[in-house]
Amino acid sequence: MSTELKYGKTKNFINGQLVNSTSNRWIDIYSPLNGEVISEVAMSSNEDLNKAVNSAKKAFKTWSITPIKDRVQVFFKFKNLLEKNMQELAELVQEENGKTFGEAKAEVEKSVELTEFAVSLPQLVQGELLEVSKGVECRTERVPVGIVASIVPFNFPSMVPNWTIPNAIALGNCMILKTSEAVPLSAMKIAELLKEAGLPDGVLNIIHGDKEIVEAICDHPEIKAISFVGSTKVAKIVYQRATSNLKNCLALGGAKNHLLVLPDANPEMTAANVTASMAGCAGQRCMAASAMIAVGETDHIISKMVDEAKKIIPGENLGSVISKVSKDRIESYITQAEKDGAKILLDGRNTIVKGKEGGFYVGPTIIDFVKPNMSVATEEIFGPVISIMRTNNIDEALAIENANPYGNAAAVFTQSGGAARYVADHASAGMIGVNIGVPVPREPFSFGGWNDSSFGVGDITGKSSIEFWTKLKKTTIKWNSEASINWMS
Ligand code: NAD
Repeated sequence: MSTELKYGKTKNFINGQLVNSTSNRWIDIYSPLNGEVISEVAMSSNEDLNKAVNSAKKAFKTWSITPIKDRVQVFFKFKNLLEKNMQELAELVQEENGKTFGEAKAEVEKSVELTEFAVSLPQLVQGELLEVSKGVECRTERVPVGIVASIVPFNFPSMVPNWTIPNAIALGNCMILKTSEAVPLSAMKIAELLKEAGLPDGVLNIIHGDKEIVEAICDHPEIKAISFVGSTKVAKIVYQRATSNLKNCLALGGAKNHLLVLPDANPEMTAANVTASMAGCAGQRCMAASAMIAVGETDHIISKMVDEAKKIIPGENLGSVISKVSKDRIESYITQAEKDGAKILLDGRNTIVKGKEGGFYVGPTIIDFVKPNMSVATEEIFGPVISIMRTNNIDEALAIENANPYGNAAAVFTQSGGAARYVADHASAGMIGVNIGVPVPREPFSFGGWNDSSFGVGDITGKSSIEFWTKLKKTTIKWNSEASINWMS
């Protein structure tokens, strides 16, 4: 019975109101920490989407012509409300996603940073003006694209929605946010805080659902731009469908991030960083270290990594993975690697946390002597698992990194500036770390990968996102009374 659910039924958020979906297709929302059902959410219909689009369309008339300096006032207030509600939002993130409270809080803190960037947009989007002929001026200005959609994954229920909401909306767009059907609750709290901050009704609308509603978004004629974050398989589907409908699309996909560890790397710092990158957020980060390439003699570092990883305790400083399906998938990769002849240095299979037996936990797992063609080396596992491959030199290591189809992040651990620069120059990834295991660029630098980790032009955050969320208007002006036509054609 829905009345017994901790969070009741999760509704859509349309025109500033909580609205029932017209769909009769519902799914359970459970906490992966213990497997308990905490809410139910409807898989929205085309009718729901039309309501959201109509509400955005109405709001766009006023919001798009509200000066940006006024628009960002909402985000000043939102930032303060995020800080005030940090504990509650972090608890919600933790409950629906399964990460630790510290990790959940860190992503709300990152949401604050993303909002701070959005309030700086008036400083960054000024147009240009030049007298291009005698008495004739050209001026440029950035104007909103219109009604836009943002489709998000399960792994960062607060941060990823905030990659797009503050920038797109501060730049004058009205948005339809499609949450991950696994974690719809945090976004509802974000909407509540934005309403409290004074965001006019209809500027942000939230609809929940799955494949069906994503396809409807890609096909909707009134939606002009779509950002997507999720797996590469779905990123390709969304990018192709949206662009074939002549919409702008930026679709971020999955990842397989390689960390190169050189023999001269600081052993303690490297072991701590690589392990934290592999196991943080239970390995469910698109920036997680998934493959480590040990270049030359690095056994002393690998043994320290095992010691570090043993300090990571499921249910204490390691959260759960999102579902039973994920847990089974991750464990089957480990089993396959073992069958293929790799050596399991630390095995996280069959982990059960006392008191949380219904939760989906996988312990930290380190697999050594992995060959580049094994599935643990080539596929995104999305769990707290690292596969170690061994090479004799940096070029062999880079050849492995370059051959992987993804390109979110790559990192090198070394004390040599020359070696670090060589890896940074030759790795095929959009975000490079030098002695950093999770090289997420902080604002105002933008976030975005290469290759199969991102489809479309530009990055999703920071300055780079301004191009995606705006169009450039060029106006040529002549106010003087001279009749001569002094023009180029
Ligand atoms: P997912 O691709 O399964 O789902 C993402 C979104 O797409 C969800 O909103 C979902 O409802 C929708 N969706 C799922 N299947 C669909 C289909 N067949 N057609 C249309 N829409 C569909 O991803 P996920 O499991 O929620 O998230 C994990 C993935 O996201 C990982 O691959 C991870 O690397 C990636 N990710 C990437 C980045 C990045 O910046 N590149 C950031 C976060 C997560």
